[in-house]
Amino acid sequence: TPLLEIEDLHAEIEGGRKILNGLSLTVNPGEVHAIMGPNGAGKSTLSYVLSGKPGYVITGGSIKLAGAELSELAPDERAALGLFLAFQYPLEIPGVSTMAFLHAAVNAQKKKRGEQEMTSPELLKRVREIGKSLDINAEMLRRPLNVGFSGGEKKRNETLQMMLLEPKLCVLDETDSGLDIDALKVVSNGVNALRSPERSMVVITHYQRLLDYIVPDVVHVLAAGRIVHTGGKELALELEATGYAQFQNEAA
Ligand code: ADP
Ligand code: MG
Ligand code: MG
Repeated sequence: TPLLEIEDLHAEIEGGRKILNGLSLTVNPGEVHAIMGPNGAGKSTLSYVLSGKPGYVITGGSIKLAGAELSELAPDERAALGLFLAFQYPLEIPGVSTMAFLHAAVNAQKKKRGEQEMTSPELLKRVREIGKSLDINAEMLRRPLNVGFSGGEKKRNETLQMMLLEPKLCVLDETDSGLDIDALKVVSNGVNALRSPERSMVVITHYQRLLDYIVPDVVHVLAAGRIVHTGGKELALELEATGYAQFQNEAA
């Protein structure tokens, strides 16, 4: 069975415009799918709808994660089922240290699953191990979550969260935006380290560059709120050369 199965999904912004118009996407266990598309196509909206963010309303279709319908579940219930989203604009929380946030996130998930919670020393050990591979030091972990972090620090920090939570499905929205080439390599190495036969990834990006480092099995074009074209990894290079205009016409 597919890990993620989105069928004929329609969604709108509450009180506003319809953004997703019959989007269908199937991701099997172990696969990495890239979603590319023009600005305003609905890529971030798709990630928000998957996460269950308030303000986004599903008006048709279904989203199944490992067979479970997600649309009726709260965001934390989706996370407990193994969904992780890395957003284009990560949340800043002034009053909460990065370490305290990580501890809360891990234990909220464990509690929801009825698993034993992690103690502070256990978590610290694990965070230090992972942090080393991501160039994250103790000073960064003491700082308030994402406050004043550079683009690279935010993305490295999200990669740390993801590696700690070990989700079944990772959705990365424009993880490459604002990253210099060194940060891009660090984040990509982290993501690649998580690739496994059971885990799937959906990598959303406007540019081909990220896909040099995270090589996808399947590439989709999202235009005007639905998937309009699907191909192999070579499609990303074609799109870099030809742009998205052809698909915008097709979608309209
Ligand atoms: P992408 O990530 O592909 O660039 P988005 O999903 O961010 O696209 O946006 C899709 C469309 O929805 C755009 O036309 C955008 O202007 C609109 N949009 C996104 N968020 C909001 C919002 N909160 N209120 C009104 N319109 C929005
Ligand atoms: Mg955009
Ligand atoms: Mg976006």
